[in-house]
Amino acid sequence: MTDNRHIPQEDLALFAMNALPDGECALIRAHLADCPACRAELAQLHGDLALVAMSVEPTAVPQGARQRFLNRIASAANPASAPPTSTVIPIAAPRRIALWIPWAAVAAMILICAGLQWRVVSLSRELQLQSDQIARQTAANTRAHEVLELLTAPSAQRVVLTAPMPPKPWPTARAIYMPSRGALILQAMNLAPLPEGKAYELWVIPASGAPIPAGVFRPDTWGSASLVLPQLPKGVPAKAFGVTVENAAGSQSPTSPIVLSGAAPSSGE
Ligand SMILES: [Zn+2]
Repeated sequence: MTDNRHIPQEDLALFAMNALPDGECALIRAHLADCPACRAELAQLHGDLALVAMSVEPTAVPQGARQRFLNRIASAANPASAPPTSTVIPIAAPRRIALWIPWAAVAAMILICAGLQWRVVSLSRELQLQSDQIARQTAANTRAHEVLELLTAPSAQRVVLTAPMPPKPWPTARAIYMPSRGALILQAMNLAPLPEGKAYELWVIPASGAPIPAGVFRPDTWGSASLVLPQLPKGVPAKAFGVTVENAAGSQSPTSPIVLSGAAPSSGE
């Protein structure tokens, strides 16, 4: 092995699969230590075996690897037809060529099984990730749909919640007045309750002259009251409006301090 003769490919293949006796292995190892060419050949063989193992679909085997594999089997079966480059060197033990094919098949099957197992694990991990993501997305969609349904349902009950004893609310009233027609609507809220026999009275305060009585009203349980189209003279522009507490029948002029008042906008009709 020191005279430029290299290890035949068949021996290297058997060596790669641990199918040689210890003695031959030692010889080959010694040669490999000094021979880059045979080391390269051995690396190529390892590569071929790995390619066969990792090829899950039969068509995926590279043409080169397949041809090399077939050539090797052919040359093992018929040594006379071996390529001229494989100059045979004597290694003591008889070749167990017949063993080589089953060993190769077993080794390839083991590698194929390992490769398949690895792919199955990684694919099922990926599948699990995707189905987790889909489940999360579905839950989010369902929730958004339920929210939308509730917000737009005509039959849904809509309730305003307040404290049972709110701080004393501010009494207010809103008047809508049209002087040309003597038409007026008043809506008041948060009014303080009145003693029996008393009422609130609305006054139209003209630009000049005395306040004109515009009707009496009493608040309901919730402090609300309204006055709709009371009897009023037509064509009296209002400077302001006021509310006083009077006898239930109403007064012709205010007899108590104003409890609510508001100036009319100058642009009023
Ligand atoms: Zn060599």
